[in-house]
Amino acid sequence: MLSSSLPRTPARAFLLLLALLLTLLRPSAPFSDREEAQIRRLQEYLRIPTAHPDPDYSAAASFLLSLARSVGLRTLTLEFAPGKPLLLLSWPGSDPSLPSLLLNSHLDSVPAEPSKWSHPPFSAARDPATGRVFARGAQDDKSLAVQYLEALRALRDSGFAPLRSVHVSLVPDEEIGGADGAARLAASEEFRGLNVGFVLDEGQASPTDEFRVFYADRSPWRLIVKAAGPPGHGSRMFDGGAVENLMNCAEAVARFRESQFDLVKAGLMAASEVISVNPVYMKAGIPSPTGFVMNMQPSEAELGFDLRLPPTADPELIKKRIDEEWAPTIKNMTYQLIQKGPIRDYAGRPLMTPTNETNPWWPVFEQAVKSAGGKLAKPEILSSTTDARFMRQMGIPTLGFSPMSNTPILLHDHNEFIEDKVFLKGIKVYEQIISALSSLPGY
Ligand SMILES: [Zn+2]
Repeated sequence: MLSSSLPRTPARAFLLLLALLLTLLRPSAPFSDREEAQIRRLQEYLRIPTAHPDPDYSAAASFLLSLARSVGLRTLTLEFAPGKPLLLLSWPGSDPSLPSLLLNSHLDSVPAEPSKWSHPPFSAARDPATGRVFARGAQDDKSLAVQYLEALRALRDSGFAPLRSVHVSLVPDEEIGGADGAARLAASEEFRGLNVGFVLDEGQASPTDEFRVFYADRSPWRLIVKAAGPPGHGSRMFDGGAVENLMNCAEAVARFRESQFDLVKAGLMAASEVISVNPVYMKAGIPSPTGFVMNMQPSEAELGFDLRLPPTADPELIKKRIDEEWAPTIKNMTYQLIQKGPIRDYAGRPLMTPTNETNPWWPVFEQAVKSAGGKLAKPEILSSTTDARFMRQMGIPTLGFSPMSNTPILLHDHNEFIEDKVFLKGIKVYEQIISALSSLPGY
């Protein structure tokens, strides 16, 4: 069409030259064949439906096992609960007597609502314009498993030989508390056999150009306060009614909440460094066919709170506060406290990993990230909870780290994605980290 409609004149020559120039100016394929293959392997893993309540653990495990074998790692499949495989992949070091390095990632994901996504959540669709790979688990945390294995593959191909053994654990059920996953692993004979000296587990994406690193999790508690009191006509004013006592409780909690939140608002502490407490449900009233009985004060009322304690908080002080201020027995109040997970390690120390010279792994980790061209933000406490707490409970230094800079935080959100170049950069970062940490001389 072009040739027939254009005059054979300098104008045509000009257009041809322009086309040639545009071809030369168009960036060549940004990634090598090897990198494209790495992205394809990420997509393949992301396409396995690993969302609760019915994660396809067997497909995820067989995919990762075949990847691990292609890297030349030793593989071991454990099953602490039926249908919930847990993979241990190992590259023995030249001195296996030295404490080893463990890289952890979970196999499962939270559910996704496909109608709220721009691409189906398990399509792992890659947007050609932005390089974003959309999938549930892209950030949390299936990309890590592939990055670990690809970094190990690159190191192996380069002829690298670790001094310390390097292990990868791929565990089920993190998103539902880890009881049949990392908790069982940490307590197992097999785990003791790994002689783990340092763990890297998932962190979170960072919207800035600095990588985030987490040295502790907050411990989630559930508090249910129940108040009882004499029932009475809605018109009467009397002391000690159940709802009145519960409202006093709510006020006391609100004052404490404000004192913590003020520290955050004043910039004195990060949100994850204070004790957070939020009311999550209220139960009171006497149901009637049309709603609630309006002229009766009920004899029972209940309030539920989500409490999160940083490892620096003293759990005994909080319990004292609940006993004396929030739910005092003398006010006819009772409470139930469900502690989800430990707040101290086996030796009674706060569950925190030092990010200073007292932890011999820290400066090596920090330097390795720098060597890979990355920047580390100030170490933080994670607001929520991960499997890292089970490792810290064993007294093993554990950092939460996901090498995703310049990336919005989309874990558990709609349209979760990881950009292809961010994913590839992460592999390079892990290459540096693994080679440095596994070469750390004996201590
Ligand atoms: Zn996660």
